[in-house]
Amino acid sequence: MPLLEINKEECTGCGACVDACPFGALQLVDNVATVDDQCTACGACLDVCPVDALSLPERPTVEASGLAAYQGVWVWVEQFKGEAASISWEMMGQGRKLADQRKSTLTACVLGHNVEHIAKEAVAFGADRVFWVDDPSLAAYRTQSYAAALVSLVQQYKPEIFLLGASSRGRDLAGSVATELYTGLTADCTGLDIDADTNLLRQTRPAFGGNIMATIICPNYRPQMSTVRHRVFEMPTPDGNRKGQIVSIKPALSEAQIATRVVDFLVEQGQINLADAKIIVSGGRGVGGPEGFGPIKELAEVLGGAVGSSRAAVDAGWIPYAHQVGQTGRTVRPDLYIACGISGAVQHLAGMGTARVIVAINKDPEAPIFSVAHYGIVGDLFQVVPALTAQLKKKLQK
Ligand SMILES: Cc1cc2nc3c(=O)[nH]c(=O)nc-3n(C[C@H](O)[C@H](O)[C@H](O)COP(=O)(O)OP(=O)(O)OC[C@H]3O[C@@H](n4cnc5c(N)ncnc54)[C@H](O)[C@@H]3O)c2cc1C
Repeated sequence: MPLLEINKEECTGCGACVDACPFGALQLVDNVATVDDQCTACGACLDVCPVDALSLPERPTVEASGLAAYQGVWVWVEQFKGEAASISWEMMGQGRKLADQRKSTLTACVLGHNVEHIAKEAVAFGADRVFWVDDPSLAAYRTQSYAAALVSLVQQYKPEIFLLGASSRGRDLAGSVATELYTGLTADCTGLDIDADTNLLRQTRPAFGGNIMATIICPNYRPQMSTVRHRVFEMPTPDGNRKGQIVSIKPALSEAQIATRVVDFLVEQGQINLADAKIIVSGGRGVGGPEGFGPIKELAEVLGGAVGSSRAAVDAGWIPYAHQVGQTGRTVRPDLYIACGISGAVQHLAGMGTARVIVAINKDPEAPIFSVAHYGIVGDLFQVVPALTAQLKKKLQK
């Protein structure tokens, strides 16, 4: 149901709100404004109404005086079947930096069953304190039970900043928790730092199709919440000698209160793990068709790497989406990224620009990929790639 309220007595049917609505949620019916479910409560219509006939309910902002009660940086540590996700440790590394900048503490939230070892690992990865919620009802991820546990912890302990990995579960959980707490959430950040003047979290992410980088702040709500994609931040080195407090917490919901049951897990066949690959050989539109990935695969095989692709090749149906690198694909941070027949659009660079060494093979010397490449080969990939493969085979004795 839309949140926007329309005072039908006051409405003059001028239509100014209809023109102002970016979502097409307002129409005139019998000369009176009406709103439908497309309304996002953005408020764009409020200022244009000449007779103040439109209103939105008051939002429960945190009073400025109450903001100071929110302190510390929190990270949700994701786990599956008792194994922590590497993305969470990357978040801990960045969380530690932010906590140090704010001269505050870093807290890890570890939820699951039989996961005490992960709580200890979290200390090694930089946590000063770990909230350890261990219960059979939390063995498998379920939105309701996980969100309830985190919401109740936030309401009680009031963190200033809350970070989650932008994995499938992290995205789901972050949205639920932020909605329940009525706070802001910036998804898929590529940079997080503290504003030196305001002490607010500066959350940077690509916007408008990756053509600009937007820096977003959340001044009136707490916690300031962000998700960050895999491989955006470096993996910190764990320190087994670190000391931290592990606090055991009871789950917020009992099994009987949870509406869903996990029946089974099915592992998707043929999955590739691009995010963890040390070497990636990627093909773009320049490979010309599905068979054009043949030489790319051979080179990847000789190097012991994975095959990536641009979105153009995925959209053309030449290779499955799981291989796509970029803003709407995977973010990767390999030691070596070889881009073959890829022009280097910003959306592609957003996914691989932090690779340690980038090699570009392209027949167009002006291709933008050369501006980020450490080594560039101007030439036809169908000559260059097989020649490279043959040389490497000899060198590596394969
Ligand atoms: C919202 C949004 C999200 C997007 N997300 C992504 C994303 O996640 N990942 C992504 O990749 N793109 C993404 N895109 C698309 C992106 O803008 C580009 O269209 C895409 O990356 C282009 O792919 P390409 O470089 O393979 O193709 P092209 O730009 O067509 O480049 C092909 C290149 O191959 C070279 N070439 C051709 N033949 C040969 C040959 N025989 N030998 C050597 N070189 C050759 C050409 O010189 C050219 O430079 C997104 C776009 C939008 C709007």
